[in-house]
Amino acid sequence: MPTVSSPRPKVLMVSPMPEWDIAPMREAYDLIDLPANGLAGVGPVAEIMAVVTSGGRGADAALIEALPALQLIAVYGVGYDKVDLAAASQHNVAVTNTPDVLTADVADMALALTLALARRIVDGDAFVRSGTWINESMPLTGTVSGRKVGIVGLGRIGEAIGRRFAGFDTEIGYWNRSPKPLSAWRAFPTPATLAAWSDILVVAVAGGGDTVGLVDGSTIAALGRDGLLINISRGTTVDEAALIAALENGTIAGAGLDVFLNEPAIDPRFSRLDNVLLSPHQGSATQATRQAMGALVRANLAAHFAGEALPTPVIDRRR
Ligand code: NAP
Repeated sequence: MPTVSSPRPKVLMVSPMPEWDIAPMREAYDLIDLPANGLAGVGPVAEIMAVVTSGGRGADAALIEALPALQLIAVYGVGYDKVDLAAASQHNVAVTNTPDVLTADVADMALALTLALARRIVDGDAFVRSGTWINESMPLTGTVSGRKVGIVGLGRIGEAIGRRFAGFDTEIGYWNRSPKPLSAWRAFPTPATLAAWSDILVVAVAGGGDTVGLVDGSTIAALGRDGLLINISRGTTVDEAALIAALENGTIAGAGLDVFLNEPAIDPRFSRLDNVLLSPHQGSATQATRQAMGALVRANLAAHFAGEALPTPVIDRRR
């Protein structure tokens, strides 16, 4: 007698993932890539049960509402600010993300940007390669050790950034939305008061509507002429127009940025500034971390389709 196998769940891939994730996912699911022209190019829209997306793409209300069988949105990233959680909740769609496994790499990136910016490591590399060193010395640079570091958003990544800076004998302060009674670091009532105290301000807060422009023009100004601003959170959390003006006018000393508005087509004025260090959103972009993130996406899909508890839910489905 022929066996009747149940059809594999249809999973819409909104963002590309590495082959090491795609290959095992193809074994278990019917993967459908979202074409450039959107859902119009997808045949079985009504049968799609899960969406896999990146933090940068997310899933908006239009996508969620266009997929009547949707049960799960699995985000390949920790930030879910581009997922419309209200629409997902309204349509009883679970949302998962990939916390913890990327914390160390993103925190390392904040330190790397700070050290490279203050010590002008990229300029030094160009100075050596160009042969300029034969005839002159490179200008002196700035110190990181022993300075005051302010962290905006003391979540998992913000805490990990603080732990790393502690190894550089810095003083550490922070601003966080909710109290952190167990933290030994100094709490400040607002991002602006934190910036006024800080030599180096590191932004690690979540993105989303509530934190747009949280680091505003007055906070950037409070950092002062010798201040450095590091952003590994989202381009939205810092008032980018105010930041560019401060960099152009020298009202802060410099910025190290892994995130921007309108990535990857960032404001072209950044490229003309020599007091800014630009990184193409590489915080979690290491082989080991991307493998761990992919494994967590797959574990969430597998748990969902097995009817088991989701490993890392942002919101669960109502039963
Ligand atoms: P987390 O542990 O959830 O921490 C989130 C932080 O943001 C907490 O300090 C939280 O404050 C704060 N926050 C959340 N919603 C807020 C709101 N509406 N208003 C004010 N503060 C709010 O997340 P995480 O793992 O540390 O990640 C933090 C962020 O880093 C992510 O959301 C993402 O945007 C960014 N990220 C960037 C990269 C990269 O490649 N550059 C990679 C991964 C993550 P409470 O303590 O009060 O909740």
